[in-house]
Amino acid sequence: MTSLARLSKMRPMPRDGFGREIDYLRISLTDHCNLRCVYCMPTTGLSFLPSEALLRADEIELVARAAISVGFRKIRLTGGEPTLRADLVDIVARLSAIPGLRDLALTTNAVLLPKLAEPLRRAGLRRLNVHLDSLDRERLARVMRWGTLDEIWAGIEAAQATGFAPIKLNAVVVRDFNEDDVVPLAALTLDRPWHVRFVETMPFGGGDTARTARDGLVPSAELRRRIEAVLGPLQPLEAFDPSDESRNYRAAHGNGVIGFISPVTEAYCGTCNRMRLTADGRFHLCLLNDDELDVRATIRGGGDMAAVAAILLRAVHHKPTGHRLAAGHTTADRQMFQIGG
Ligand code: SAM
Repeated sequence: MTSLARLSKMRPMPRDGFGREIDYLRISLTDHCNLRCVYCMPTTGLSFLPSEALLRADEIELVARAAISVGFRKIRLTGGEPTLRADLVDIVARLSAIPGLRDLALTTNAVLLPKLAEPLRRAGLRRLNVHLDSLDRERLARVMRWGTLDEIWAGIEAAQATGFAPIKLNAVVVRDFNEDDVVPLAALTLDRPWHVRFVETMPFGGGDTARTARDGLVPSAELRRRIEAVLGPLQPLEAFDPSDESRNYRAAHGNGVIGFISPVTEAYCGTCNRMRLTADGRFHLCLLNDDELDVRATIRGGGDMAAVAAILLRAVHHKPTGHRLAAGHTTADRQMFQIGG
């Protein structure tokens, strides 16, 4: 079949109540993580889902097939830390074999990639993003708390050696923790074709992590000024994908891409194309709102793909828009480690 014929056969993407085309499903595989980043997870007082509450690999595959049957095209596996799922390679193999899935990606802190990069690639994974907040050992230990720079760097090297390209790094920047790291991180793009993206902190839930995220916000405009002061003016790059949340630039004589993801100071709700599935099987309509629709009960009650698809379309229809993070609003009583990133 020619690519034109394939395009004309493609199912239209579902639209939400605001006319946005929703075609991107982010699936949280677990609420566990092997790091404790200061803006994400507290070091004490956590409770985790029992393993029987998590969707199994076959249940995740059913949801993915249902999503693709109604016009979704992209899936990202996340968490928690998705590499902690013992059946991750099986999940990737199941999803990458689904006809109609155009993009399957993974977000990880890379600590376990030395052992997993190769099997994941063999299972069909082609894209991954690595989360790395600092190139300085001590500052990394302060902001990401568990895990070390050497472990994460070994994971990035394993991903590269296995053929994942481009390497995309995400750094969350927190005032008084790692804002001095943005220049060395951005400088990685001078001689490497990597994408390094800086993410503004979002205050999820309540407690210390939300406070750290809210008080530690460093607006992207400030980060850009810091980087330009050292690397020179950044050239804006045209967006290939209107739903790409990252505003992308290239340093003069740079090889890679420097991006800014600014959910607080430059909210991009108008182009949001995402739906989330929590590790315990609920469609979470928006990262920054609490609305959810359970799908696990339907699956475990014997519901088929059509029943799952109907719930997903209902979730799309009710997807909200807008948030008030810039005004100090938080997501009140839900937290990132519960809903997945
Ligand atoms: N464990 C994986 C990782 O570290 O990338 C995947 C899940 S993590 C929750 C997904 C992304 O969310 C990471 O890049 C992380 O830095 C980011 N993140 C977590 N808490 C955040 C917050 N409060 N504000 C902004 N980004 C956050």
